Amino acid sequence: MNPQLHHDNQILQEILQLVQQQGMDYLDDLQNRATSTAKVVEKVDTLQEEGLGTIAALQQFNQRFEPVMVGSSGPRYWGFVTGGTTPAAIAGDWLATIYDQNTQSAKGAGDVSGLIELETIQLLSSLFNLPKDFFGGFVTGATLSNFTCLAVARQWFGKQKDKDFAKDGISEKIHVLSATPHSSSLKSLAMLGIGSANVITVEVAEGNREALNIVDLKKKIAELNGEPFILISSAGTVNTVDFDDFEAINTLRSEYNFWWHIDAAFGGFAACSPQYSHLVKGWENADSITVDCHKWLNVPYESAVFFIKEQHQLLQMESFQNANAAYLGNPLDNFSYLNFLPENSRRLKALPAWFTLMSYGKKGYQQLIQDCVAVTLSFADFIEQHPGFKLLAPVWLNTVCFTLQNEELVAPFLQKLNATGKVFMTPTQYKGKKGIRAAFVNWRTTTEDVELVTAEMIKVLELL
Ligand SMILES: *Cc1c(COP(=O)(O)O)cnc(C)c1O
Repeated sequence: MNPQLHHDNQILQEILQLVQQQGMDYLDDLQNRATSTAKVVEKVDTLQEEGLGTIAALQQFNQRFEPVMVGSSGPRYWGFVTGGTTPAAIAGDWLATIYDQNTQSAKGAGDVSGLIELETIQLLSSLFNLPKDFFGGFVTGATLSNFTCLAVARQWFGKQKDKDFAKDGISEKIHVLSATPHSSSLKSLAMLGIGSANVITVEVAEGNREALNIVDLKKKIAELNGEPFILISSAGTVNTVDFDDFEAINTLRSEYNFWWHIDAAFGGFAACSPQYSHLVKGWENADSITVDCHKWLNVPYESAVFFIKEQHQLLQMESFQNANAAYLGNPLDNFSYLNFLPENSRRLKALPAWFTLMSYGKKGYQQLIQDCVAVTLSFADFIEQHPGFKLLAPVWLNTVCFTLQNEELVAPFLQKLNATGKVFMTPTQYKGKKGIRAAFVNWRTTTEDVELVTAEMIKVLELL
């Protein structure tokens, strides 16, 4: 055995204690860690002949990379939609690494990891009050979840024309309708050969909305002359967290033949609170739903789930079966996740989610969601009150989309604000206006954080 490897194995306890201590130091100081940095990292491009051993590698990491790590898992990183990690999720994630299972079947000898995943899916659907007829699994993010759901939708579309697209390739134009799809859905359409430019854009509802306009949806459907189609709807658009009218969409199902997908990456968490669950009313009737776990569930990257109606399981298997490998057996006899999603070998991604769900329960998540909305509203209040800023859209849930009174100052303002390292927000375009988004999905964020940030915003504004 290589002597470094042998030695590391002998001192593994010491290594893990060092890492644990470093982890605690990071987390204890997370609220003070800068959310941006101007420091640059010196590049290394050659691997040394002799390894350093883990302790010396840790020292290198601490010299070169650690000081440049921004507090993106902390309470004031409001850019994109960036969640943190609960204590239970950290524990589950560490154990997923230690046990290092290749999560596949739920039946194979000693393979409990598939069972843990199936159980976690049940826990999540219970958290969201979804019916039991969804089959689900873990993928690396909402992008891959959208990809998985839309792959099954593609296969469904082919079946409407007696074609097997998974086997024979796509031989028909696939009709896709959507109003405000997330960029990752377009990327998925590109990856699936459906074509990202082939989306028929439905108008948005009247008023300051991003949700689809049901009247225009019907018009666009009528123009398809009875052709089947895929509808991509939103439970939470990224700019304003607007929700499509799922009950209205559901009533169209009796009239038209379509696959209904909902991207509920973070908006799906509205289901956790009786105050906000009306936003997703009717979503349980969809064919497929995307939910991200590394956003509002607050588990580490990379974690998301798909929910696809069980009645489509054959279509799903046709899309993903790994059946050419004889040693894996007949996919119909032995359930294995590898026949139902893009990856073959897989980490036990369900474990952090299982830990956090078991640890905090329905009430824990109800409160987490409500706390995040409460800080969102207090931030929105500041934007409404202060004469230098204005809201670009109503606040539906957990994101504030705003601009400056003088829109031309948005870019320099944001650049200076982010450079303080006290907060991080992302620029956006909303209905042709330059704006800024602040999204709240981290359990650590408090109203004190909002006060700290708003004080900073006032200072930056005065300096412009
Ligand atoms: C974040 C997000 C995605 C993409 O998710 P990843 O986890 O980054 O792959 C898709 N849809 C919506 C609505 C999102 O907010």
